[in-house]
Amino acid sequence: MSFKNQYLANVYEQVTKRNPNEPEFHQAVREVLESLEPVVEKNPKLVETGVIDRIVEPERQIFFRVSWVDDNGKVHVNRGFRVQFNSAIGPYKGGIRLHPSVNASVIKFLGFEQIFKNSLTGLPIGGGKGGSDFDPKGKSDNEVMRFCQSFMTELSKHIGADTDVPAGDIGTGAREIGYMYGQYKRLRNEFTGVLTGKGLAYGGSLARTEATGYGLCYLTQEMLSVMNNSSFEGKTVVISGSGNVAIYAAQKATQLGGKVVTMSDSNGYIYDANGINIDVVKQIKEVERGRISEYANRVAGSVYTAGCKGVWTIPCDVALPCATQNEIDKESAEILIKNGVIAVGEGANMPSTPEAVEVFQSNGILFAPAKAANAGGVATSALEMSQNSMRYGWTFEEVDSKLHDIMVNIFHNAYNAAEKYGVKGNLVAGANIAGFEKVADAMMAQGIAY
Ligand code: NDP
Repeated sequence: MSFKNQYLANVYEQVTKRNPNEPEFHQAVREVLESLEPVVEKNPKLVETGVIDRIVEPERQIFFRVSWVDDNGKVHVNRGFRVQFNSAIGPYKGGIRLHPSVNASVIKFLGFEQIFKNSLTGLPIGGGKGGSDFDPKGKSDNEVMRFCQSFMTELSKHIGADTDVPAGDIGTGAREIGYMYGQYKRLRNEFTGVLTGKGLAYGGSLARTEATGYGLCYLTQEMLSVMNNSSFEGKTVVISGSGNVAIYAAQKATQLGGKVVTMSDSNGYIYDANGINIDVVKQIKEVERGRISEYANRVAGSVYTAGCKGVWTIPCDVALPCATQNEIDKESAEILIKNGVIAVGEGANMPSTPEAVEVFQSNGILFAPAKAANAGGVATSALEMSQNSMRYGWTFEEVDSKLHDIMVNIFHNAYNAAEKYGVKGNLVAGANIAGFEKVADAMMAQGIAY
């Protein structure tokens, strides 16, 4: 699709010129700007106040050296990133990704998406993202600890409970957050809610571990109910990934009556026609930090196939991509449709390529984009921040019930915004518009200072 609105076309061109060789960032910006065309046409003030020109440029980008020493005394150098994208509605908030594929483009695409996602939650959180090209896989606990301490030594100068509150993401789980939190406390002598996803013993929130996957299913369930008069009950579900989001999406989809038949990692996928046994997956991934192929050795009747893309060839009613960006391309989308998929809920960030989204939408597939569908993680992180500020903790049921209400609200806000702007049922546009409007109002109210 090309831009009909010349102002947006110019903004997009400027983004590509100013940020060369950043395809993921361009992709994320393009998708949002395309959705905003009807909004810009109706509101000339957005152009006059330069809101769109400003929103595509991060408020601050911090790139830094992270050196650490491995168990054999060898020195390694990684690159650290924190992009503080937008603080119009609250302190920057977004995860830290530790993966060899991390670069400026990936962090900026994630930080940009985070602005709208965080706004959609209805909670006061701005958008940011960080990470490093460090790979925790295959490292000892001590190596991971030394990396995290080095990373936080620089990051601590730029974050704070009222400034910027990072969280987990790919490669950053409870272990990494613990090491980073310990280092922050040591450097600053402060026990504050500067990170979320903390352990329960030191300020974490119940239900944060489950939140993104559970939230994905709550939103998908609402979408099925409103737009298809159905639910997860009796549906076959294909899930990719076997990390934090995938595991708890599988658990909740199963609790809601679905049968989850696949999970994957970057090497391949497992297929279990009887329904995935979540306890076995948890033991392999959370306790042993092993590979998903191990599942086939432990569960009779299940099959492991090498190559992660093959997961999309398994017939299903509902697909929940929960691994990484651009994991569903046009071809995979077409196979899913041929095999009868009726709904797709994005657990990972931007897992469908623009061509895949186009295929889903033009074939009438219910499609819940990541910004809306995986916002449960950051929403519960914001609930963790509230509990830290109150020096108080809610029960699992209290947090889970707030999460449920937030996800249902996000669905309706996106659905209603799409209807208001003449694209009923297009949740991609609806989520972008609903998330944008609040941030734009705040930016206009606060004047043009940066
Ligand atoms: P984890 O690190 O816990 O798990 C990631 C999973 O995805 C692993 O199974 C991993 O396999 C797989 N994966 C990672 N990179 C690739 C790749 N390049 N190709 C194929 N598979 C890959 O991360 P999370 O579960 O936390 O995050 C998954 C997605 O959800 C990400 O897009 C993240 O940004 C998003 N997300 C996470 C939130 C959270 O609360 N954790 C909140 C909102 C979004 P392998 O082990 O082989 O690398």
